[in-house]
Amino acid sequence: PEVVNQIAAGEVIERPASVAKELLENSLDALATRIEVDVAAGGTELIRIADDGEGVPEEDLPLALTQHATSKLRTPADLFTVATMGFRGEALASIASVSRFKFRSRPEGQELAAEIAAEGGSITPVTPRGGPLGTTVEVRDLFFNVPARRKFLKTNATEFGHLAEQFTRVALANPRLHATLRHNGKVVYDLPPAVDLRDRLATFFGSKIAERLIPVSSESDIARLWGFAGHPGDSKGSRKGNYLFLNGRWITDRSLQHALSEAYRGLVMIGRHPISFLFLETAPDAADVNVHPTKCEVRFRDSSSLYRQLLGTLRTEFLK
Ligand code: ADP
Ligand code: MG
Repeated sequence: PEVVNQIAAGEVIERPASVAKELLENSLDALATRIEVDVAAGGTELIRIADDGEGVPEEDLPLALTQHATSKLRTPADLFTVATMGFRGEALASIASVSRFKFRSRPEGQELAAEIAAEGGSITPVTPRGGPLGTTVEVRDLFFNVPARRKFLKTNATEFGHLAEQFTRVALANPRLHATLRHNGKVVYDLPPAVDLRDRLATFFGSKIAERLIPVSSESDIARLWGFAGHPGDSKGSRKGNYLFLNGRWITDRSLQHALSEAYRGLVMIGRHPISFLFLETAPDAADVNVHPTKCEVRFRDSSSLYRQLLGTLRTEFLK
C-alpha cells in the first residue's frame, strides 16, 4: 500500500502548495471557523495547519490515513454530486506516504486529543495527547523519501508563493473564516473574520481598490453568478488576479476566462483586464469536478450558456 499511496501522491501532491490545498479543504469540510497555517522553508520543512473544526474521533484516526477511506462519500452516485471539497479519500494517505506526518484531533465530547503519526507511510499507533478541540495536521520534510520529487521543487520563495496562493483562494472563498498564514515564524496574513467579500478584498488589496470594484450579479436556470469585477478604467496599474469559484471551490476554466476577456474587450488595452472575483453557484450536477484529481478543472454540462451569462452580465454592468 505504501507504493500505491506514493503513486497516488504523485498525482495530487506535487509540491508544498498541494499539501496545503488538501489540508485547507479538509478543514473547511470539517466546518472550521478558524484556520492557522504555519510554514517553514516554503513548506518543504514544515506545513502545519490547525483548525477548530469538528475533528475525528480517536477510533477513526487510522481510517483517516487509509487510502480511499473517506467519511464524505456514501454511495457511488455521490461521486457525481459532490458538495464537499474532498471526496476521494486519498489525500491524507498520499501525504503521509511522502512525509513525516502527524494528525492530532479532538472532537467535541472527547476528553483528550489523540494523535496518529506516520513516516514515509508507515503508521504508528494512536496515542492520547493534550490539545484543543479541532484538528492539527503537521507535515514535515515533504518528499524526504522521494528524492526524484524533491529535486523538482523550486526555491523556497517560489514554493511559498504557490502555497500562499492556495491560502488566498480559500480566504477569498470564505470571508468569514479567521485565517492566519505564517512563514518562518513571521505573520504573512492575519485575516480576521470579514463581514462579506468586499470587506475581505479590502484587507487583501486595500480599501481604495476594493471600493472601486463593480458588483456583479445575475441568475439563470443554470447558475447564480455574483462577485466583483475591476473597473475597466483600472486596468493599467491593477494587480493581476482573476479568481473564479464554483460552489465555493476555486476553478480554472478557459471558456469562462475567455468570456471575461471578451467582456473587457474594447474597454481596456488588449490583454490587460483588471482583477475580478466571480462566484458561480450551480446545482452540484451542473458540473463534473471529477475531471482531474486536484478538482481545479471542471466540465460544465452547459458551458455555452454559462459563457453567455458571464459575458452578458459583465457587459451590462460595464455599460451602466
Ligand atoms: P477526503 O477529504 O477525500 O475524505 P482525505 O484523505 O483528505 O480524504 O481525508 C480523510 C478523512 O480524514 C476525511 O474524510 C475526514 O473524515 C478526515 N479528516 C481529514 N482532515 C480533517 C480535519 N481537518 N478535520 C476533521 N476531519 C478530517
Ligand atoms: Mg480531503
